[in-house]
Amino acid sequence: MNINSKDDIRLEDILNTTPVAVGWSSVSSGRIEYVNKAFRDLFGYTLDDIPNIESWYSSVSSKPQYYQDVIEPWIKECQESDVAHALKTMLHCKDRSLKQVSVTFSLVGDKRLWYFSDVTDYWIAEKRLRARSEMLEMVAKSSALKDILNVIVKQVQQESPFSLCSVLLFDKANQSLKLGAAPDLPDFYNNAIDGIKIGANVGSCGTAAHLGERVIVDNIHTHRYWKNFTQLAREADVAACWSDPIMSSKGDLLGTFAIYKRFPSSPTDKDFELINFASNLASIAIENFRVQEELERRAHFDHLTGLANRRQFFEQCETILNQSKEAHLSLAIMMMDVDHFKQVNDDYGHKSGDLALQKLAETSLSILRKEDLIARIGGEEFAILLPLTGKKEALLIAERLRANIESCSLFSPDNEKIHITVSLGVAFKQGGRCSVDELLNKADKALYRSKALGRNCVYLLED
Ligand code: GH3
Ligand code: MG
Ligand code: MG
Repeated sequence: MNINSKDDIRLEDILNTTPVAVGWSSVSSGRIEYVNKAFRDLFGYTLDDIPNIESWYSSVSSKPQYYQDVIEPWIKECQESDVAHALKTMLHCKDRSLKQVSVTFSLVGDKRLWYFSDVTDYWIAEKRLRARSEMLEMVAKSSALKDILNVIVKQVQQESPFSLCSVLLFDKANQSLKLGAAPDLPDFYNNAIDGIKIGANVGSCGTAAHLGERVIVDNIHTHRYWKNFTQLAREADVAACWSDPIMSSKGDLLGTFAIYKRFPSSPTDKDFELINFASNLASIAIENFRVQEELERRAHFDHLTGLANRRQFFEQCETILNQSKEAHLSLAIMMMDVDHFKQVNDDYGHKSGDLALQKLAETSLSILRKEDLIARIGGEEFAILLPLTGKKEALLIAERLRANIESCSLFSPDNEKIHITVSLGVAFKQGGRCSVDELLNKADKALYRSKALGRNCVYLLED
């Protein structure tokens, strides 16, 4: 086909109305001579920006030798096989956004016509589907929450270039946010944010968690939500932060998902869609993790007092006993039982009995050292392990428990003063082999003796 100037005008008019991005270049000079409207709309470049084919490909690719390494071999291969294979590639637009395009070309005399089909939406949908199934598979396999959240963060960062994402987890008890995943934000920044209390004007995430709604800060350096964090943001080189609260299926706050930008910027509709996608996936991951965590907690801890349960006590004791077996270390085990507890229930009601057990647990925890282990192993029976503890010290601790529980201030819901006491039996292991069962039996025998001695006392069983 010959292109004379009359035809050129007609052809340009036709091409300008086609929805496909088209341009042509001179094969001999490499000069780009024409790009249609769809091309300009898709990439944002005009002819003035991209005088020749090499400068075009170096503008749109982040790889330095892209034209020589990818485009030239592809053209050669197409020409040799006489078939124009489509090249699927990712190109940067003038505004630095990314487009996944399918490129083909045809030759008309000295002109090479280029066709670019925008397949970004399909590509994103496919990627999201893959990220979603990868994440769900990890959820099913109970992978570490951080690894699952990293999959989401990486997907978003890939779709939204020059973004840095973070997932923070809501800690209800402390009303704070803990680091979930933010693999590409600097460590010093993540450390500063980890554990931050939520509230008004606590950056984008702290505020989003506090308000329970999306917070868009397009310029960190001028926004009041960030006034206490501008220096930190400057050091981390972030200038915009859009944060979404992550909610559970029941509407409870689970955490926040945030996209940071290096430059002040506002989200587009596509960004909003992306934030929704990420928050939704993160919510599935976190909710599932919380359920597992709760099941785990229930399997190992007593629901009434929050203390370890029998199973947890035996597991931990086994571990400690194994360690002390090798090192021939001494340790003490105590059994503690509430005196005449049936009577407490009868006199003040079962609810008061429950309160008494909670108070007893709280009082005991305030006396025991952090390395000690206390568990509720029966209705009103508690077992206590004191690692690396000699007889004298163990008796001192037992006596302190007894005295503090006797004097603790406890009232029924009707405001009646409840008096409770405990009896304790203490047993020892002084090196050598010994099972948890053996030690507990010894402590139980000692407890039986202290009950027989009149209750509200401590009995030590000598070997
Ligand atoms: P002793 O001094 O001999 O230990 O007398 P006791 O009354 O404490 O012993 P007993 O074994 O006869 O009774 C234990 C009581 O503890 C019976 C039961 O109703 C009560 N109990 C067990 N678990 C719970 C609980 O979770 N809540 C309440 N309120 N009471 C409980
Ligand atoms: Mg009792
Ligand atoms: Mg009992």
